[in-house]
Amino acid sequence: MFAYRHAFHAGNHADVMKHITLLATLELMQRKDNPLLCIDTHAGAGLYALQSPLVRDKAEWPSGIGKLWDADESTMPTLVARYLQAIRPFNKSGRLAHYPGSPLLIQEMLRADDRLRAFEMHPSDIGPLQNCLKGLPRQVKAERKDGFQQLRALLPPPSRRGLILMDPPYEMRDDYRHVISALREGLSRFSTGVYLLWYPKIGRFQVDRLLRQIGSLGIQEVLHATLTVRGPLKDGLGLQGSGMVVINPPFGLRDALSESFAYLAKTLGQDARAGFKVMQGESPAEIKTALGIQSPSAVVSPTAKT
Ligand code: SAM
Repeated sequence: MFAYRHAFHAGNHADVMKHITLLATLELMQRKDNPLLCIDTHAGAGLYALQSPLVRDKAEWPSGIGKLWDADESTMPTLVARYLQAIRPFNKSGRLAHYPGSPLLIQEMLRADDRLRAFEMHPSDIGPLQNCLKGLPRQVKAERKDGFQQLRALLPPPSRRGLILMDPPYEMRDDYRHVISALREGLSRFSTGVYLLWYPKIGRFQVDRLLRQIGSLGIQEVLHATLTVRGPLKDGLGLQGSGMVVINPPFGLRDALSESFAYLAKTLGQDARAGFKVMQGESPAEIKTALGIQSPSAVVSPTAKT
């Protein structure tokens, strides 16, 4: 169960697109004053040492944030530049040596009345997570609990405003099923919450089924963003790209992501199959189209507008 360690993947193309989507969503939600509850159901270890001997040889960050770190921020979409600015305080020397995961990025953005609850099951990752989040004891809590099951206890938040990030490892096929039951449970308690779900572009069958099941949850509005960095390898292994589903996306997210994902597809793309898609839907028909349920997901070329 605990074969997955995020340390190897920290800062890869999937983290880049996921964390850009997370930061943009949080920032747009914070345009309203009401306090926010943020829930990170699968938080990871918090902070990753990119040069550590444990990950060095297998590290994936060089083809992710490594391709952005030294680029000229003035030539980037604002959102990509702001993402890098969120990472730079963890690398004071200027050299990219540490990568902050989702709970740390959220913690850095919390306002005085916002809260973060983070969950992590791995026995080796929960300690480091609790250590790096302990700066804000009243606002932030990290626990070794099953994140899928915590939505029942935490939703709806008292302020009725919440962001829920679900980022399971999908190392076990059950994760796909658990995602749907957790979303169903969460939406039944808090239908107006903003839910961010990351998924890997690996097994076409599981992903298609996951998206179809999301489409049948009775949601009001969805944004679906994908970043593909390459075509499939001959052995069918490896991550071609990944997707983010945002249920109840805040206004302005689609435009912000479209510009950024176009840039990411060009900068992180590894072959001619690289591309992106950012689609949004409100009516049942639009939601199906956005999720690619009606027409199988066609990858948009890096230069095309969504
Ligand atoms: N969200 C993190 C980030 O963006 O920096 C990365 C999380 S990583 C993809 C998934 C994490 O979920 C792993 O650290 C794994 O140990 C943990 N995990 C697996 N099953 C879990 C569960 N049921 N509840 C909470 N954490 C779980």
